[in-house]
Amino acid sequence: METEKLFYADPFLTEFDARVLACEEEKGGYAVVLDRTAFYPEGGGQPYDTGVLGGVEVSEVHEKAGVVTHKCAAPLPVGETVHGKLDWARRFDHMQQHSGEHICSGLICARYGCDNVGFHMGAESVTIDFNADIPWEELLELEAAANRYIYEDHAIDIQLHRGAELDAIDYRSKKALEGDVRIVTFPEADCCACCGTHVARSGQVGIVKFLSVQKFREGVRIELLCGGRAYRYLSACWAQDVAAAQALSVKPTAAAAAVERLQGELSALKLRCAKLEESVFAGVAARYAGSGDVLLFEDEMSGDSVRRLCDAVAETCGGRCAVFAGAGSAWKYAIGQRGGDLRGLTKELNAALSGRGGGKPEFVQGSVGAERGAIESFFAEK
Ligand SMILES: [Zn+2]
Repeated sequence: METEKLFYADPFLTEFDARVLACEEEKGGYAVVLDRTAFYPEGGGQPYDTGVLGGVEVSEVHEKAGVVTHKCAAPLPVGETVHGKLDWARRFDHMQQHSGEHICSGLICARYGCDNVGFHMGAESVTIDFNADIPWEELLELEAAANRYIYEDHAIDIQLHRGAELDAIDYRSKKALEGDVRIVTFPEADCCACCGTHVARSGQVGIVKFLSVQKFREGVRIELLCGGRAYRYLSACWAQDVAAAQALSVKPTAAAAAVERLQGELSALKLRCAKLEESVFAGVAARYAGSGDVLLFEDEMSGDSVRRLCDAVAETCGGRCAVFAGAGSAWKYAIGQRGGDLRGLTKELNAALSGRGGGKPEFVQGSVGAERGAIESFFAEK
């Protein structure tokens, strides 16, 4: 006997009573079948409901041949009446995402004459796939249209149709359908065959926000959020923006421009710093000219600066130049020797001082995990 689906008669039903028709032990719990249920089973891209049935947790709900099975944490008495209660926050979230998806798909498919070829409602984000290439700027226009449709608060119509009556309706569907087909209509936005649960009015979707678009198969995949999810996501982004703006001493709406300015300043400073380093390194190179093997310790520097300093001194010292930059027991190094072969030394160095790195015979670079004293002792013997 097929389960009576209370979620179709009233998608806002959160509690109900039903009789237990069957209860069988299965992997990880008990499979419970009722005469009627408000628990939506997985289907049409919409995840299943969870909640409590007869005082025990319902962790999964599936449907097979019209029979809905509830995976329960403990057995329920067959023949008895039990009370069921949905995790309504979860279900309403699914309804907001699902209805929002229909509105967006309807508007997008009508504009581009394309099809929705995939819909996934994950725990975090929702994705829709279309078999058309749609640029981001145009998607933002459609996002605005979808939000307008949401706050125009249209009533949603859901009817069962079959046969010639069904043939007369222009609806979206992923496959050819027979028998009674449930047609979900968002007037002037979408008409689609669907087995999911929906809000009653478009206003209940609240808001829709597109997050990204990427190429997918022959078209695009759009990531979006609706309702409470969109609100929470945008609130988190807003908090980030406010914190960034405060750090930059600008208004939240000017944060991006301020970051761009900061990046410009940083690039200019890096350039200036590199120029100053050049003259400092040239001075060091002049000081060590002709002094043979040299071992230098410097404050933390970029790997590139270590390389350039070493190169400059190796050019003039006439021996082997080793530069270590860092502090404590973490140092970057560069060693250079004109016409030398440093590979053997580097191997020993890495082995003795917990280091890593290498390079060409005349020039090597890497890092060591040892104190300055240990580095000095190593070179004293070389
Ligand atoms: Zn649907």
